Parts: sequence; structure tokens; C-alpha cells
Amino acid sequence: MKKKVLADKVQADATNGNGNGHSPYLEDSRTGLGVDTLKRAIRNNLFYVQGKFPEIATRNDYYMAIAYAVRDRLLQRWVASVKQYIQEKHRVVAYLSAEYLLGPHLANNLINLGIYKETEQACKELGLDLEWLIEKEVEPGLGNGGLGRLAACYMDSLATLEVPAIGYGIRYQFGIFEQDIRDGWQVEDTDNWLRRGNPWEIARRELSYDIKFGGYVQTYLDRAGKLCFNWIPELVVKGVAYDTPILGYKVNTANTLRLWKSEAPHSFDFQSFNAGDYNSAVNSKIICENISKVLYPNDEQIEGKRLRLQQQYFFVSCSLQDMIGIHLRQGEKIHDFHKKFVVQLNDTHPAIGVAELMRLLMDVHQLEWEEAWDITSKTFAYTNHTLLPEALETWDLQLFGSVLPRHLQLIYEINRRFVDYATIKLYGNHQKISSLSLIGEGPRKYIKMANLACLGSFAINGVAALHSELLKKTVLKDWYELMPHKFQNKTNGVTPRRWMVLANPELTNLISGKIGEGWIKNLHELKQLEPFADDPEFRKEWMQVKFNKKKALAKRIKKRLGVDVDPNSMFDILVKRIHEYKRQHLKVLHIITLYNQIKKNPSMDVVPRTFIFAGKAAPGYRKAKLMIKLINSVGEIVNNDPDINGRIKVVFYPNYNVTNAQKIYPAADVSEQISTAGKEASGTGNMKLSLNGALTVGTLDGANVEIRECVGEENFFLFGLTADEVAKVKSEGYKPWDYYSENPNLKEVIDQINSGYFSHLDSKVFKELTDSLLYDDQYLLFADYQSYIDTQAKVEEAFKDQDKWARMSILNTARMGKFSSDRSIREYCDEIWKVESVPVTLD
Ligand SMILES: *Cc1c(COP(=O)(O)O)cnc(C)c1O
Repeated sequence: MKKKVLADKVQADATNGNGNGHSPYLEDSRTGLGVDTLKRAIRNNLFYVQGKFPEIATRNDYYMAIAYAVRDRLLQRWVASVKQYIQEKHRVVAYLSAEYLLGPHLANNLINLGIYKETEQACKELGLDLEWLIEKEVEPGLGNGGLGRLAACYMDSLATLEVPAIGYGIRYQFGIFEQDIRDGWQVEDTDNWLRRGNPWEIARRELSYDIKFGGYVQTYLDRAGKLCFNWIPELVVKGVAYDTPILGYKVNTANTLRLWKSEAPHSFDFQSFNAGDYNSAVNSKIICENISKVLYPNDEQIEGKRLRLQQQYFFVSCSLQDMIGIHLRQGEKIHDFHKKFVVQLNDTHPAIGVAELMRLLMDVHQLEWEEAWDITSKTFAYTNHTLLPEALETWDLQLFGSVLPRHLQLIYEINRRFVDYATIKLYGNHQKISSLSLIGEGPRKYIKMANLACLGSFAINGVAALHSELLKKTVLKDWYELMPHKFQNKTNGVTPRRWMVLANPELTNLISGKIGEGWIKNLHELKQLEPFADDPEFRKEWMQVKFNKKKALAKRIKKRLGVDVDPNSMFDILVKRIHEYKRQHLKVLHIITLYNQIKKNPSMDVVPRTFIFAGKAAPGYRKAKLMIKLINSVGEIVNNDPDINGRIKVVFYPNYNVTNAQKIYPAADVSEQISTAGKEASGTGNMKLSLNGALTVGTLDGANVEIRECVGEENFFLFGLTADEVAKVKSEGYKPWDYYSENPNLKEVIDQINSGYFSHLDSKVFKELTDSLLYDDQYLLFADYQSYIDTQAKVEEAFKDQDKWARMSILNTARMGKFSSDRSIREYCDEIWKVESVPVTLD
């Protein structure tokens, strides 16, 4: 019935033409932003682009029609931006990242275009529900977690600040796996995000590069007697550009996100094909396409696989060749490459770029070593994202040489020259020199990518103040002592457009009603909210918005998991990748402790709480998967225990991604940021939650330190050892057994897990996890346990006074101005990249 009415309406509107007397044929209204123009565009796209009509159009068809209508408007701005950059020859930032966790495009683009309301109205007049269509979008999950999401926030801020920039990466055919929970365990499913097509990208078939792999290097003397190198590959793969326009917020700037897809080259194995060896021809096509097939699902853990190295080199080589092409086509000289582009390395994943630029400059563009090195080391800047040793990238030297024989030669030569220099600088301190060397010695030799990045870059930065300090004291200590001028800090940030305006329009409206909309582009203006913390009416409205967001999340939880949760209870939220260092299991120890308290005294006065977890575990990370099972097992017991009577609930919301994050963050009362101090480089989930009015329970780790400084210690629930104390405990020998045997509550919890209390009396399921906590825990859970429990009691007390809580929550949001990715990007522009804004004019 609904569908029929809807069909008639769209049909009628289409036959009637534009409906408001304006000529639909006017050029300037083709990409206009008014309701009628949008309506017409949606209808036209349905008919002319998709060949569909209302009687047969599906929900996806309508989604596509709107997406194409919006894309037309993006393209207009994108063309204007690119034209202007080319004509005026601006300096450009190239952001190199193996991951972009973009999240759904449609609603974000509507907000940045400033036409959300208009599109909603246009849809309504067509009998469509915009929100229902927005929910249809499958997000491009081209990243694992924080690092990929940071790249996405930075692309948004670059465009919003009108900075000429290109983001380069990989167009994975399959992004991060979809997570399902069966019997409490994580089950992975492939993320076939391109299944229904991707209206936001434009394939640039003509923009492609040949990328070589394997083989060997010939040396010869040219006619002038110069030593030359000729890389004869075993395999050549074609990289094809797929462009996605990234529009800034209410500006005309639309930058390019250029992702590379691997394909077989035109002439692929023609011989086998002709000889009738169809299998071998098809085989080589498959090998080529495999390179951009799938994202490696490890977060903070390296995977030393050949294919991974091939992915890295593939996208970096395509990107650098592309940049050189852009530069030369503008009539500029190769010698000035570093003046045109500054290349930011998002972690070491693209660090092979240092050797690749040397190769391109010398082997392809015939520069001498000294000049090539001068250009290279003025081009790159490197962001370090982790202190975890297991995440520092190295490549087995033999594997590396078999994939990139020419680069191995270049790295040897870069290293030879560097070691000569360092030997003199360091007066032959062999230990330091071997730690700085690009090549590690051991049973097998290996290439140290962080060292290549440090040496080849003019700037090195950490992602929060504490992290940048720790870099200088620990993993990059020797580099800091040798080259202190390279070291900087750039504290991460998040885009308020996606994480407030889009995720929390209710709070956005409440705030803008009081202080205007300036804060959306200048987050420091949130400060003006502070006085309203004293306004009882405002506090009431503030808490009402929070309640509504909690209600909406409760509804989703009910629908997805069948669990009833009470929006009046405290929503205590821990959502992020599952990792031992992030300590989801510490949260579980708290929940069981609370459960035991209530069991012993069922009539006790307890603040009802809903514990919400979400996050993916790397498929090969057994303990992380066990943590998910533990959360679900505890939930099963707690949620159904009549003594508890619904006062505490534990839910694990499956498939944590940007779409779900947008629903979860605004509903949080409490934000759990409980990593072992010194382990979380920055965190950005902490920022998104705090911005949305959640109060943080956290350690002094990553950006928590700066968040606490900004919001005020009285509005932050601090617990646990500091990074220095963690280091001290470890150096003195951490003895978890002592904490266990001396703390009866802790002992009870661990014994209970081991007894099978939460696992149908199977006492073995969680043994691997409890054993690691008891005998060799890198992450010091037991050392922080009592402090965490005590702090949670304070959280509970504070929540009982809802008026005071509201005040804290408002002040908390009001003081988060620093954590906009606009601020981060401004700092990168001024202090590293030396690039300026270029306002784009639409003609
Ligand atoms: C912000 C974000 C992250 C990073 O969260 P942390 O708490 O900083 O680890 C990971 N995944 C998604 C989907 C996010 O939006």
C-alpha cells in the first residue's frame, strides 16, 4: 500500500515536470540546492541514470538516486577546486594512509553541503523518508580502527580548512570483516561493500600506473659511463585510480581521496592465452587483482606477509608516480618536487615511499644520489602511532628482497651512507649505531621501517603530548638524540561535523540555540556554553537530549540482541578494538565485582547500570576473541539473575563500525578509557565520547591526559598507575599473584571465572586469559584493579546527583574545543607542511 502511494507520487511529480514554474532546463539550476531542484535531480537520476521507475524502484534505487544527485553537487565543487589548484599551482599535501575508515557518505555530504533539511523536504514531497534511505548505505570499512578513522577526520578537516590536499590509499575490494556473535563468540564474515555499487567514487580508467614486483636488477654503464640500474620484474600489476570527492563543511573546497585498485595489465600473459593456456592466463589475472583484494584485519599488530608488503608498495608507488605526473604536467621541474608536494606518512605502512621516491628520481628521472636524497628527505614527514613493540613494522630481509630487489639495494646504500655519518657523529658507539641502522641483525636480518621513516623524513610526530614524550624516551630515543629538531607533537582530533552535527543533531541544536553555529567550524567556541551549566532549564534540556539518545540506542539493542535495557540506567560504555592493552577484561572484573556485591546483599542500594561493549578482535588474536566470549558469558549470567533483577545489564553490540559508533557515542553517560598507561598513543574514541557529554573514567594515557587538563580534574574520573609507575613496577618485576592473594574481592572474581561459573561449569574456557593475568600480564590489570573499583564507586556516587552530573557533563563538552581535527590539521599545516588555505570560488 505504502509503496503504491509512493510510486504514484513520484510518477505524478515526474510527469508534471519541475512543479514550481522554474524551467528545469536552466543550466544554473542543474546542480542547485533548492528543494525543487533536488526533487527533480532525484527523479532524473532514478530514470536516466538507473533506468528505473517508481513501480519497480527498490529502497536501494532511491538511495542511489539521491546519492547521485548529491554527487553531482560535489563534482561541481570538486572540478572547481582541482581547476583552481592546477591554474594557481598551489603547494599540495599528500596524505598517505593504508587505511581510511570513512563511514557512510550521504548524510555527511548533505551536512557539509548545507542541504540536509532541503533534501529531507524533497524526499518527503516524493513520498520518501530520507532517514530510512540513509540507513541503507553500506559504509566503506577501509580501516581497522583509530588510525584509519583519523585519516578520515583529517580529510574532512583539510577540505573544511580549504587546504589543497590529496589522500592516497588502497581501494580494498573487501574492507574490515563484518562481525557477528554466535554463542558468545566472534564470527567473521566478508565485507562485500561494493556489492551494490559505490555511487561516491569515479573510476579514472585513464589514470593508471604499472607497478613492478620481484625479479632482479641488471646493472650496466650508460654511454656516459654512468652506473645504471634496470629492474627486470617478475610481475607487473596495473594500479587504477578511483576518486572520491571529499567536501569541506560549507565551503566550496572538495579535495580528492584517490584509492588504487590493482588489475592485470592490458597485455597480461597474452602468450599463455594465445597458446591456449587459459588457466595460466586467468591465474596471473587473479594474482594481480589479489593485491587490493582485502584489508588486513590486524590493529596494532604487524602481519609480515608478502601480500601485505605488496599492498604497501603498490599504493605508495602509484601515489608517488601520480604526484610526479601532476607536478611535471604543470610544467614544473622534477628538481622542485618537494616544493610542490609534502607527503605525510600515516604510520610506517607507506614508509617504503622513501626508497621508492629515490628509485623514481634516480632510475626514472636520472637524478644523482645527492640531489635525489635532498629532495626525498625534504618531502616526507612521519607520524608514529604506537609504542607497542609488536606493532613496529619490520620486514624479513629475504622476503623484502624477493618482492622489491631494487629497493633492497637502495636501502643498503641509504644505510651505508647513514652509518658512515652516524659513526662519526656518535663516535663509534656501536650499540646506538646498530639500533639506528635500517637493518636489524639476528637469526634472520630484517628491515626496520620506522628507522627508514625517521631517516627519510624532515619531521617526526607523535599523536598526543604524552605519546610524543614517550617516543623521545623509548622507541625513538636514539633518533631523538641524533636529530632532536625533527621531533614534534600533534595531538589527534576528531571532526565535529560527523561526530556532533551528524551523530547528535539534538545536542547540536540545543548548543546552537544558545551560542550560535560558529562552534561547528571553531570548536573553541563551545567554551561559551560554560555559563549555561548553571542554568537549571538548560541542564534539564541537556539531560533530556541524553535520555533520548539512550532511548534510541536501547531500541537498537532490543532489536539487534533482544535484550531490554533501561534508558534511565547509567550507560557505561567501552567501545573500541578489542585488545589486551585496552583492557576490556579489566571492565569485566569490575562488573563481576559489582555483581558479587549485589549477590551478597541483594537489597543494597545500587545505581542501575548498563554496560555496553563493542569492538572487533583481529581474527587471529585468540585472547582478544576470548575476551569477547567472556563479556558475553558474564552478560548471560548477570542479565538473567533474579537477584540482580535487571539492575545491571551487560551487552555486547556486534559489528562496531562508524555507522554504529555514531549511534553509540551520543548515548554514553560514562566513557571508559582504561588502557595501561603508556600504551594508548592517543585514542580518539575518548574525544568523541567526551564531546558528546560523556564523563571519562580513565588512566593517564594518550590524549586522556590532555582531555583531563581541559575539562578539569573535578570532571574526570582518574584511576590507575601512571606511565612512569607502570615502567617502574615492570622493572622491579610485576607480581600479579601478590595482588590476587591479598585482595579477596579480586581473588573471588578470578576464582569464579576459573570455576566455570560463567561458562556452564566448563572451567577451561577462560583459562588462557586468567593464566595470563595471573602469571605474565604485560598490562598490569591486577595492579590497577582496586583503584579502578574505588573510582567506579565515585562514579556511582556522582551519578546519584543528576543535577551535578548534568553540570559536569555540560562543562565537559564546553571544554573539548581543543580536540577538533581542525585544530590538529591547522598545526600540521603551520608547523610541518607549510601550506596555506586556498578558498575556492565557484563560477
Ligand atoms: C573513533 C573510532 C575508533 C577509535 O577508537 P579508540 O577508542 O580511540 O580506540 C575505532 N573505531 C571506530 C569505528 C571509531 O569511530
